[in-house]
Amino acid sequence: MRVTFLGTADGNTSATREHSGILIQTPVTSLLLDCGATVPRFLLAKKINPEVPEAIWISHMHSDHIGQFSMLIQSLWLRARRAPLHVYAPAAVIPTLQEWLIQCILFPELLGFRIEWHPIKSGSKFTLGAFELRAFSTKHLANLASFFQRDYPQTCFDCYGVAITYLKQRYVYSADIEHPRDLRPALKTPVRALLCELTHFPERELFKELAAHDVKGLWITHYPDHLENKELQLKKIAREEKYRGKVTLMRDKRSESI
Ligand SMILES: [Zn+2]
Repeated sequence: MRVTFLGTADGNTSATREHSGILIQTPVTSLLLDCGATVPRFLLAKKINPEVPEAIWISHMHSDHIGQFSMLIQSLWLRARRAPLHVYAPAAVIPTLQEWLIQCILFPELLGFRIEWHPIKSGSKFTLGAFELRAFSTKHLANLASFFQRDYPQTCFDCYGVAITYLKQRYVYSADIEHPRDLRPALKTPVRALLCELTHFPERELFKELAAHDVKGLWITHYPDHLENKELQLKKIAREEKYRGKVTLMRDKRSESI
């Protein structure tokens, strides 16, 4: 399994890094986690065929996670994709995404490939090739919801991370979280690698939480510019908090084979 971090920036514009997007590839399946990075350019530059990705996981509606979605669909259309595209998205936003594609002049009859929409709810389980996907909800948007949901009842304030089981190993994508305790439901059983954001809480809190779980590797993404090149300092904090897994601060376009 190969995991490529297409963008590691958080919601702030970074001069050097792109927004969220992680491409997971196996010989038979590919899954894109969020779509805020310029995925189409990456796929073309790497000469990856237009049947990739097989599926997209949309955690929530912040633009650093979904801003490139319609551009990716347009690119796959123009590159003559034929295989169906599976889109996993919070249940409440699927009609909006479908309408958005129509407003982007990307009609289902035009595309040449089918989009299969899969609504995510907390605890949703999906099978995608050799992957088993299990959603868990995070409280990333809970605070904003408490202020705005009343006036904007149509807006979806859900956010979903995902636990991926592949060849009996588990991998967890945090999506955006309010606090590392949001990860507990996904960390109850051993995790080979946690792909985790590091922007919405003090760094130390993450290592404190992970010390209580069996997480072999931590791949940090979605972090602010001031943490660039701070991998050694983060490792030191991890040791202080007794987290014993391997800590890696990801860079854009870096791949891990596992
Ligand atoms: Zn967000």
